[in-house]
Amino acid sequence: MAEDKKRLTTSFGKPVDDDLNSLTAGERGPVLMQDIHLLDKLAHFDRERIPERVVHAKGAGAHGYFEVTADVTEYTKAKFLSAVGRRTEVFVRFSTVGGERGSADAERDPRGFAVKFYTEDGNYDMTGNNTPVFFIRDPLKFPDFIHTQKRNPATNLKDPDMFWDFLSLTPESVHQVTILFSDRGTPKTYRHMNGYSSHTFLWYNEAGDRYWVQYHFKTEQGIQNLTAQEAEVLKGTDPDHATRDLYQAIARGDYPAWRLEMQIMPYEEAATYRFDILDITKVWPHADYPPITIGRLVLDRNPENYFAEVEQAAFSPGNLVPGIAPSPDKMLQARLFSYHDTHRHRLGPNYHLIPVNAAKAATVNNYQRDGAMRTDDNLGGTPNYWPNSFGGPVPDPGAADPGLELTGVTGRTAYSHPNDDFVQAGALYRDVMTDYDRDHLISNIVGHLGAAQKRIQLRQCAVFYKADPDYGTRVAQGLGLDIAEVERLASMSGEDRAAATAG
Ligand code: NDP
Repeated sequence: MAEDKKRLTTSFGKPVDDDLNSLTAGERGPVLMQDIHLLDKLAHFDRERIPERVVHAKGAGAHGYFEVTADVTEYTKAKFLSAVGRRTEVFVRFSTVGGERGSADAERDPRGFAVKFYTEDGNYDMTGNNTPVFFIRDPLKFPDFIHTQKRNPATNLKDPDMFWDFLSLTPESVHQVTILFSDRGTPKTYRHMNGYSSHTFLWYNEAGDRYWVQYHFKTEQGIQNLTAQEAEVLKGTDPDHATRDLYQAIARGDYPAWRLEMQIMPYEEAATYRFDILDITKVWPHADYPPITIGRLVLDRNPENYFAEVEQAAFSPGNLVPGIAPSPDKMLQARLFSYHDTHRHRLGPNYHLIPVNAAKAATVNNYQRDGAMRTDDNLGGTPNYWPNSFGGPVPDPGAADPGLELTGVTGRTAYSHPNDDFVQAGALYRDVMTDYDRDHLISNIVGHLGAAQKRIQLRQCAVFYKADPDYGTRVAQGLGLDIAEVERLASMSGEDRAAATAG
């Protein structure tokens, strides 16, 4: 009878006699403490929710594979990229960023695009977004920035003043703001958007030659976006539309795919390049470093259980493999800490044992033991210290990355490379966008910024004006602002502009 999977039991396997009626003292009397089954059922239910991710809380995921389509051994010794035709199992999670777990998929927001490659050298995570840049470039600003995208501490409402106050005082955000308020800020589904590493990473080959790289996963479904009006309707009528779309596409065998294109820069060229490759508010223009197609990502299997495989999925840019190393991008450096830290808080210190997070193609050997929810045999009686002379696992010096040359004095120093916050936002507005894109950008911004205080509107319009005078002028016109005042604010330094528009 013990093997009978149909028999209902308590958490500890005791057969349950009745799952509809609580145990009471007499027919109409109070419930008895000795109804252990009821207590077990309620106590577990009370603990069903785990902490929500502070960002990227709402998401959808799927399994699939990555296949190498070009020889990149000249650039990296990563084993999963070592031969054309080689396939690696992956798990991918898409998400919105600012909303809670129940928020709408159609919100204007960057989308997370996180890929876990189960490689023979351990799990490699590429934790990107659907935008190639970010709002800020120093991690000290990250908690403040996220606070402004979430709820006002007094009203518990989203707050256009907080949102635009921070952005207008942080002009390096204007490139990302311009992408976010184009229709790419509301992708039609998770299948119809690109994924970017946004950060620069370091690749190195067998000989130790180093290259800076940027990842671009380009959708084979084609870019498709929602207009602001379409997104507004979907938020009310179908808040899970992108989650459903991904699941249903895979269920009907219409497997979404992305081409992986890489921008690759020889190590030495970064020192003299016209943009700072560590500044995440910048892209590398394609004309400078044309993207090279190196592989294909395909999603062909839905999760069987959302909580087990998607909610508990834990990615980190710190999960790297030999052949791939971090760059000193300050935002990336902080993420190397913060992602693992979040998962330890959210899932516990042994979150790497949860099947979706556990290495599949590599064997894990180390001297870590114990901790909450260590659910396997805890490595039995094998040695738990190093060095030992009992045959425990040994380090492999060949797994070291080649390192970076560093100079300078410690200090709190802003990025100082030719550091124009406005040039790439201006190029996007003028040279890449069509008239249709620009019309939608202006009206999307006017619709949102219009709810902020007038002094903040003026300050933000000055930032747009600095990216491109036509851009700032059109937003200001849409808001009914004095264009001369916007021009005056745009001509000031950031500090003077902040003082002139202080509350
Ligand atoms: P290119 O003309 O070579 O490339 C322009 C890129 O912009 C294309 O990748 C295109 O993506 C993308 N794009 C088109 N419309 C939008 C939009 N509304 N929001 C965001 N991206 C969009 O130009 P450059 O490489 O010289 O870059 C010019 C500007 O293009 C940059 O300042 C940046 O704003 C933007 N851009 C550049 C990227 C890069 O890595 N160089 C990546 C993405 C954007 P797609 O091919 O998918 O249509």
